[in-house]
Amino acid sequence: MNCAEFLTPCLRLEQESSITAAEMTAIKVAISFVEQMELHNCVIYTDSKSACMILEDSMDEKAGSTIVVEILRIAHRFGTAIQWIPSHVEVEGNEIADKLAKLGLSDIAPTYGNRLCLNDALHRFKIHTQDIANRWYQDYSMEKGKRFSEIFPVFSTEPWYYKVQMEGRDVRLTNRLMTGHDFSKYWLAKMKIAEDEDCDMCEVPETSEHIIVHCPKHGFRRLKFQFEQKYLSLTDLYKSKCIETYQEVTEFVKQAKLKL
Ligand SMILES: [Zn+2]
Repeated sequence: MNCAEFLTPCLRLEQESSITAAEMTAIKVAISFVEQMELHNCVIYTDSKSACMILEDSMDEKAGSTIVVEILRIAHRFGTAIQWIPSHVEVEGNEIADKLAKLGLSDIAPTYGNRLCLNDALHRFKIHTQDIANRWYQDYSMEKGKRFSEIFPVFSTEPWYYKVQMEGRDVRLTNRLMTGHDFSKYWLAKMKIAEDEDCDMCEVPETSEHIIVHCPKHGFRRLKFQFEQKYLSLTDLYKSKCIETYQEVTEFVKQAKLKL
């Protein structure tokens, strides 16, 4: 290998990585030079405090990612010290390294086949799976319920009732009201379980929204609740993401003895 190339290497990483992983890769490149040239008792200077800390912690734990283990192995064999230096304070070598790093972003810079570190791989995997889950959720929502996806436009791995103090049957009722797939006359008629879908007072389809938000039959009772006059629809109400309001609705349904 050409020595001059080694002394001022300007490399572009093949795999996109986090800043710390890139800095760790730079230390690996430097220490590989130490190994190849069989240089003893060298000092590698880096302005990456996080890389130094990871190396130090891994020394104590005697474990780490492949690249960290490899750096420590060579350092141990050749008595190499890895020393942190502050950046942007006109340390000559550091200024040169910064310039080389910028050059490394250009297309002409040779590529360094770095391995994806575990954290970066997990991060990529997370984004990728989130993306797939979101796409699935969009399709699912189109099919299963527009209202639900209006309330929760983005898929979440944790349901809205996660860590919420609410009884199971209230959560189930809220879920039915959120999707509109409940026991209202309208939905039962739609499912061909009942024939009449209309409210016997208002002669409009008796949806859960009609009963809870609009129907004058329950106007007096509704006055006792904070959600009264506050929301034009159940979707708006659930979009508030206010658990107290969700609980008010279940309480209203209970008090009015509604079968939803
Ligand atoms: Zn009505």
